[in-house]
Amino acid sequence: MTQKVNTLLTNAIVLTMDGKMNQYDPGAVAVKDDVIVAIGPEAEIIKEYMADETIDCGNKVLMPGIVNAHTHVPMTLLRGLEDDLRLDVWLMGYMLPVEREFVTPEFVRLGTQLACAEQIRSGVTTFNDMYFFEDDIAQATADAGMRAVCGQSIMKYPAPDAASFEVSLAYAREFIKKWKGHPLIIPAIAPHAPYSTTPEILRACADIAKEFDVPLHIHISETAFEVETMREEQGMPVVPYVKKQGVLEAKVIAAHCVHVDIGEIKTLQHVNAGVAHNPSSNLKLASGFAPIQKMLDNGLNVGIGTDGPASNNDLDMFEEVRLASFVAKASSNDPTAVPAATALLMATRMGAQALHMGDITGSLEVGKRADLILVDTSPVHNSPRFRRNPNGAYAQLVFAAKSTDVTDVMVNGKWLMRAHELLTLNEADLLRQAREVAQKIDAFLIEREQSVLSKLIALGGSMEQESFEVQVKVKVTEPDQLVQKMKHPEIEINAHKHYHQYDEYHMFAEPTQGRLRFREDNLINEKGEVQNVRSRLTLLGQQREGEIGRDVLLSRSRFLAPAVHTSRFYREYFKPTQVIPIEKDRLRWHISYKETEFFVNLDHMKQPDIPYETARHAAFPRDQEPHLEPQRRRPESGVGQRVAESARRWRCGSCDAGLHRDFDSIDFNHKGHKGTRRKSLTFVILRDPSWLIFSRQNGFNQKILRDCLCCALRADGCARADLLQL
Ligand SMILES: [Zn+2]
Repeated sequence: MTQKVNTLLTNAIVLTMDGKMNQYDPGAVAVKDDVIVAIGPEAEIIKEYMADETIDCGNKVLMPGIVNAHTHVPMTLLRGLEDDLRLDVWLMGYMLPVEREFVTPEFVRLGTQLACAEQIRSGVTTFNDMYFFEDDIAQATADAGMRAVCGQSIMKYPAPDAASFEVSLAYAREFIKKWKGHPLIIPAIAPHAPYSTTPEILRACADIAKEFDVPLHIHISETAFEVETMREEQGMPVVPYVKKQGVLEAKVIAAHCVHVDIGEIKTLQHVNAGVAHNPSSNLKLASGFAPIQKMLDNGLNVGIGTDGPASNNDLDMFEEVRLASFVAKASSNDPTAVPAATALLMATRMGAQALHMGDITGSLEVGKRADLILVDTSPVHNSPRFRRNPNGAYAQLVFAAKSTDVTDVMVNGKWLMRAHELLTLNEADLLRQAREVAQKIDAFLIEREQSVLSKLIALGGSMEQESFEVQVKVKVTEPDQLVQKMKHPEIEINAHKHYHQYDEYHMFAEPTQGRLRFREDNLINEKGEVQNVRSRLTLLGQQREGEIGRDVLLSRSRFLAPAVHTSRFYREYFKPTQVIPIEKDRLRWHISYKETEFFVNLDHMKQPDIPYETARHAAFPRDQEPHLEPQRRRPESGVGQRVAESARRWRCGSCDAGLHRDFDSIDFNHKGHKGTRRKSLTFVILRDPSWLIFSRQNGFNQKILRDCLCCALRADGCARADLLQL
């Protein structure tokens, strides 16, 4: 009595990766439609089954297709775009801006096709994805014949496929409805990470995942920084935080979990979450070593993933499986940790379980889908073969085999590769299209990298346009006297604040780029404690638009924005040629004086701890900043030019220290005022070791400007001059 099947695979070293880790040599597998109907010793199977096609496997290894438990497949098109950076600079500085510009349905389809070609070649039959336009990814994957969990990304930022998270949630809902029940695609929802979402988004994603009974794919505890921030802000590590938002009530696939403690491991195991371990990505981004052996000891399902090909930089699961074993051994100082059989199990049956699809794929068992591969273990790099210990077969695959040893791949009963030839994709055509996309991205980045301003804009976020400041500076020898003067009846104090300020000036080789200032303002309360911290980023114009003597400055800032990243992030992203730190204590008053509003700042320099003039020379050495001195004497054009020219004609009547008479002729609307949203006029009066700064916002008052210029100039030449002319 023989039964009819479609395909009979004979003369193979069959590694089933089933619950008993059965091996058959020589073994055979019978496939009917999309299902494995028989598996066992060859003699038994060929007696029972007749096939349309019988394939002699030539003593190759026949094993389940490999499961790539975490990736972002369209990022094949961003492979090698920018490397050797920290995760935040890499992601926020390069990946997200390029994605915002380039990622379209066509982009993700091409990237997915490339990834499918690469993965089929290396024996992957199932992958777990997270990206944008996931509907197009699912379509390209299904067309290529691969199996995948396709997770639609949700983030709190605008994404290439959605202006807001509400739009992505609506998209995800439709996407899931459309693909639910497809033979190859399992739709999923993918809130990117706790740090890139909000509690509201996490809860909404968990609700959708539960409503449709689909997996929820998320990055968890990838870096120590992420966990530290979560502890600081929420008072708990990441796993309890996502649990609090209901995330663990869904079928979770948690990528990374590098920095999780034993309590978190137990929590994840308790809710049957799957973990996707990504050793290459963790090594390359120096994220740390995930406690894989501990996870396995506690019964967690741990799969292995490549992560996106922009952070790996390939989709080679053979390399990943080997690293999973090696890294576990090295990081635990234990050569028995994660042995070959376990590593291979993580890349097959356990990986499928981690993706909540262990019932359909991951091992060669009767009733499971026919997802299988043939691996040639006869090449010279993998010979000879020992048969005494069954673990030898796993060691051969994990420690010596290469992805290029994969010769044939079947998914869902259909061949996708025979004898190294791809049957569902045109590789040459895909490579040509990928080259064209790379050229466009190169051109975009070359243009962006030429300007600090465009790099700043590329980071996104809210920004204000240009502002102007006129500052009058004077040295104050008796700060207490000034504080007393602020109580003068003609001065009305609208607000008074005390700050501790940490500035970092980023200087660039090309002076026309301007200077970028990262400022952290610590608001100090009456008890002397830090009450509030805010950070801002300001792109200042060239050194000075104009400067009169050493006391009156006109400067321009081209952009200001809240600084949402660390100062380290900006240093690494903007790559300044020099960074100058300045620390000062600032008393700030917002006053009304003669019907005009000003800011008055009394600054005490903490660092550099030397008189200001000396500090300026120390901090801005002439040989390194050659543009500073000529700029001071000969401003280029526009407002600065005219301020400086006018200043040369002024003379203070009382002390002969400076010149002020022609000031009214200055035209402040001369340059750059079109489109200006904010005008500010700041007077900085500078004296060692403290400064006094006046500023006025929202319009210029030339009478006040003249008064202040006059008083500053008098102060410059006359020690007896009353600074405020009250
Ligand atoms: Zn990832």
